[in-house]
Amino acid sequence: MLQKQKRLVSYIVVTLIITFIINIAITWISRSTRQEIDYGTFLTMIQDNQVESVKIEDDRLLITPKENGSDKKVYYTGTLNDPQLVDKLHTAGVKFSTPVKDVQWPIVTFILTWILPFAMFYLLGSFIMKTLGNRIGGTGAMSFGKSNAKVYIEKKTGVTFNDVAGQEEAKESLSEIVDFLHKPSRYTEIGAKLPKGALLVGPPGTGKTLLAKAVAGEANVPFFSLSGSNFVEMFVGVGASRVRDLFQQAEKNAPCIVFIDEIDAIGKSRDSKLGGNDEREQTLNQLLAEMDGFDSSKGVVILAATNRPEILDKALLRPGRFDRRVIVDKPDLKGRQEILKVHGKNVKLDSSVNLREIALATAGAVGADLANMVNEAALRAVRMGRDVVRQDDLFEAVETVIAGKEKKDRIMTEEEKSLVAFHEVGHALAAALQKETQPVHKITIIPRTMGALGYTMQMPEKEKFLISKEELAEQIVVLLAGRAAEEIIFKKATTGASNDIERATQIARQMVTIYGMSDKFGVMGLESIQNRYLDGRPIQTCSTETSAEVDREVLQIINNCYEKALSLLKDNMESLCKISSHLLHKETIMGDEFMDILNSTRV
Ligand code: ADP
Ligand code: MG
Ligand code: ZN
Repeated sequence: MLQKQKRLVSYIVVTLIITFIINIAITWISRSTRQEIDYGTFLTMIQDNQVESVKIEDDRLLITPKENGSDKKVYYTGTLNDPQLVDKLHTAGVKFSTPVKDVQWPIVTFILTWILPFAMFYLLGSFIMKTLGNRIGGTGAMSFGKSNAKVYIEKKTGVTFNDVAGQEEAKESLSEIVDFLHKPSRYTEIGAKLPKGALLVGPPGTGKTLLAKAVAGEANVPFFSLSGSNFVEMFVGVGASRVRDLFQQAEKNAPCIVFIDEIDAIGKSRDSKLGGNDEREQTLNQLLAEMDGFDSSKGVVILAATNRPEILDKALLRPGRFDRRVIVDKPDLKGRQEILKVHGKNVKLDSSVNLREIALATAGAVGADLANMVNEAALRAVRMGRDVVRQDDLFEAVETVIAGKEKKDRIMTEEEKSLVAFHEVGHALAAALQKETQPVHKITIIPRTMGALGYTMQMPEKEKFLISKEELAEQIVVLLAGRAAEEIIFKKATTGASNDIERATQIARQMVTIYGMSDKFGVMGLESIQNRYLDGRPIQTCSTETSAEVDREVLQIINNCYEKALSLLKDNMESLCKISSHLLHKETIMGDEFMDILNSTRV
């Protein structure tokens, strides 16, 4: 909306300036070359034989005097009803003529005098109407929300399924909708009713909005989009009227796609405990009514996206409304590789780039993260003065997104630095010396802006979907080995291990409460996950007594793992010290370098 107004304003300003310049130019030209004289002077000039020629126009006489050759001044005077003028000119031997009517001039004059002012007034008028209209819309009661939906129409989204990578299942379910929008008759003839709406469900950044646009792009139909929060306003009734309006417009423009992003903003279950919200409920009711009311055979398909499907009102999800659910989940290895490929197309990649490796290192990342990483890598390449993106740019970008930027100027004391080095090597050794763990990719003690003083990056060799109890236990050992190394070498505890401890405890707790991996509780579920697509926070479903026992179980797992970490490192003291001093000296070492030293110290 704002942008449209800005464009209009600048258009008007430009028009005004142009008109102004034209006017000045015309006046200036006529001023400098023409001069008005009175009729008497003109007659005198004829008598004095000073006139070379006369052009007789409708309303004036243009007089070209003789001599003064360099100065091409032209005089003019009005026409008097002077019947003898022609005789006078003829006898004086003056050339005279009346111009043959030029075809162009009347048109130009017409445009200047009629079309231009008209166009300008029209533009000005519509501009004023618009600003005034908005004002009224904002304060009055009647014209509320009278169509804000218009603003979000995209005739062509320009996005196709090719731009969405790694969501094959989602694309497959949506391709039926695309087909329906292409040839609605094929479905209606046989008597099939197509779903009125589909709900895209998944964590943030996985490409739900992008997919909806791609559906419109593939079907080549207009795309009406509104975010759920656009419907909810201060005043009761606004949202409902917007919904009505949106559907009216959509029916007019059928076939088309209506997309309601973040639908949980209006679709929240009405029986929530936190007290009602009249405006939201009205909006939701209107939406339900509209969805029942419209005729899907016309080719209007409603898509909606949310990352909190569990809070949606049941009425929204019943057949005939959003009865289809398209899961847009976090991409797997292959999906991540494809997303990187799609975004890699926009930047110049060096031939050395191996996207599979990057995909391996980014387990859990969503499309938006990956797009961001590719961009960070390109930025880094520019910063380094290169014109192609290399593999190390990409790796650095992954680390930047995960851990923040390098912070080289942070000053740490020698002791702190060596403590961090031992801590990290502790992690790395625990990872390398156990069977089921992921190989070490990189160890660094350069601090990062997001708080880490150093870190050890592990990289899986392939993607895994199932993790065993043993692997989880080994992960905990790796996490606790940092603190174990500090304890063995420096005989003290520091705050540096807080994040490790938090993650280790979380894994141990999940083993007990969710995965059924404890001896005491067996396969009993003690927690359930809420908001699966957002933070995935678990809520306890057991009694307080059980909860206390859970804590004891967790503590036992943690203690066992910590003991294991301690003994693992004590058995490999030589490796620990050698690699740590090497790391302290070089600040960053890669996985193979690490393995070389480890192997050389172990034989
Ligand atoms: P959501 O709506 O699920 O939160 P978006 O659709 O807004 O996520 O995605 C944000 C951006 O992330 C997109 O504009 C796109 O650049 C990138 N992206 C996300 N998922 C994908 C994907 N599957 N393929 C390609 N790019 C993606
Ligand atoms: Mg979105
Ligand atoms: Zn650590």
